[in-house]
Amino acid sequence: MLIVKKFGGSSVANKERIFNVARRCIEDYKKGNDVIVVLSAMGDTTDELIEKAHDINPNAPKREMDMLLTTGEQISVALMAMAMNALGVPAVSLNAFQVSMHTTATYTNAKFKRIDSERIKTELENKKIVIVTGFQGINKFDDYTTLGRGGSDTTAVALAAALHADVCEIFTDVEGVYTADPRIVPNAKKLSEITYDEMLELATLGAKVLHNRSVEMAKKYDVQLVVRSSLTEAEGTVVKEVAKVESMLVSGVAADKNTARIAVMGLKDEPGIAFKIFNLLAKSNINVDIILQSIGRDGTKDISFTVAEDNLKDAIGILNDNKEKITAQKIESDDTVAKVSIVGAGMMTHSGVAAKMFEALYNVGVNIKMISTSEIRTTVLIAREDADKAMKAVHDAFIQD
Ligand code: ADP
Ligand code: ASP
Ligand code: MG
Repeated sequence: MLIVKKFGGSSVANKERIFNVARRCIEDYKKGNDVIVVLSAMGDTTDELIEKAHDINPNAPKREMDMLLTTGEQISVALMAMAMNALGVPAVSLNAFQVSMHTTATYTNAKFKRIDSERIKTELENKKIVIVTGFQGINKFDDYTTLGRGGSDTTAVALAAALHADVCEIFTDVEGVYTADPRIVPNAKKLSEITYDEMLELATLGAKVLHNRSVEMAKKYDVQLVVRSSLTEAEGTVVKEVAKVESMLVSGVAADKNTARIAVMGLKDEPGIAFKIFNLLAKSNINVDIILQSIGRDGTKDISFTVAEDNLKDAIGILNDNKEKITAQKIESDDTVAKVSIVGAGMMTHSGVAAKMFEALYNVGVNIKMISTSEIRTTVLIAREDADKAMKAVHDAFIQD
């Protein structure tokens, strides 16, 4: 079997954990499997590097950010190869250049385009455990890029797809995918299975247990994905096309605090305005989420929408630079908001799900600022300080012990 195993930052945070991971990988190797290991940076290394950069230059060029951030993963893979070597097993660490993992040009948020599998195959044929840096790629300028926070999951899935691995295991610091973040909702339940579509929604809406693009890619290339703990042998959660129905209307609740609302006001109420605004943002790779347009009055209208808080400064800059072109009289932003969402395929066929969510929020006195729905989710925008309380209340309304 060819197995891809990915370990997150907390799973390789110190010497003891590095050896723990090394032993788990060696176990599979000794059973005769080919093993590819993908690692994140140790512990909070990436956060610390970002802090260091901001201390030197709050507007650091994105190219240099990626140059800096990619060092974190390089430390983990080299140390892991040394640990395996110390345990008497041949291992080799490779970075994105050595593998040749090509991405789009966009720094800090690149997407994989093509991965060469030759080098990895050669190392596997030489009976080595291959340890690859997560989160990083190279672009057409031969520069390092990164895939966005949490992107190592996507590296693992991309390698599993490129090399036709039999399974891709994502090891983390919880025992699988839960009905909500178990650190915020202590009575959240572990799911034995979840569909790609539901997982994709949850990941996109803030459940950072998996990088959303990793789920998208797993679905596209039919990669068998398992999320499990690096510290226990518990079974974990299988992410797949069709999950067995667990008689739950809502499979999960997610919260996203990395969000901000922008309001563009006093726009001319004429065709093309929304196109101009969102086209400007799209061209700068800024994703827009919930969009709300007011009813036109006196020939003007307002449009408000949410973006990731990381993109707020860029988005406001672009809108201000184009204030006349988009006919805006006023541009405002609010970075004290959060999104709370429920996700479940059952919503497609059941009415009253959204109402039940709103009731749960009303019961704990949480005010809703914006609402957005799709076939399998309902999202509300609320005050960030209410996020944890809202998540617990909504979770309890839908998921019983
Ligand atoms: P890693 O460093 O291993 O990639 P992350 O911190 O990125 O780990 O993701 C794991 C974390 O995701 C957990 O510690 C948990 O707090 C959080 N999380 C959020 N939503 C969920 C969920 N629905 N199920 C499990 N974990 C979740
Ligand atoms: N080290 C990167 C981050 O902290 C990538 C990852 O953990 O997946 O975002
Ligand atoms: Mg992660």
